[in-house]
Amino acid sequence: MLALREAGVTVLDMAPVIDSAPIGPSLRRYANGAALVRSTLEPVAMLGLLQEIEAAFGRKRARRWGSRVLDLDIVLWEGGRWLSGGASRKALHVPHPAYRERGFVLAPTMAIAAGWRDPLTGFTPRHLHSRLTARARIPRDAIAT
Ligand code: ADP
Ligand code: MG
Repeated sequence: MLALREAGVTVLDMAPVIDSAPIGPSLRRYANGAALVRSTLEPVAMLGLLQEIEAAFGRKRARRWGSRVLDLDIVLWEGGRWLSGGASRKALHVPHPAYRERGFVLAPTMAIAAGWRDPLTGFTPRHLHSRLTARARIPRDAIAT
């Protein structure tokens, strides 16, 4: 948060931090948070800033789901959808392409952006979260194939 503030970003709200198990090969658990920020930066410049902060915290971008000290993503922005960079490693997709499937992103997001709507589905973060957890509770043998 301090690093964002130092870069001129206004932090309007912060979600309580929750912890979660890692996706992929990493062994450590993660602390997950979300912040609502205001900035004049366009999404690409904001991603650049987030990646600078990640690098300053020692993150190496070698392996996709490698163990990481910090992962800063743009989940939503008030401009709706943003797509740039195609399928390249520099691609930027807002909303974040995976956030609807990540409870550890949706939970902090709904704490600070309850009234926001996903521009693709029209659902609020809370609605997306309950759909995700409801799906997880459906037993395998109850699903017709
Ligand atoms: P993830 O954040 O999905 O766990 P990474 O942090 O390894 O995975 O990100 C891989 C790439 O995803 C980054 O190099 C970045 O260009 C791209 N990316 C696309 N959309 C976003 C977004 N909304 N926020 C952050 N990174 C994004
Ligand atoms: Mg990331």
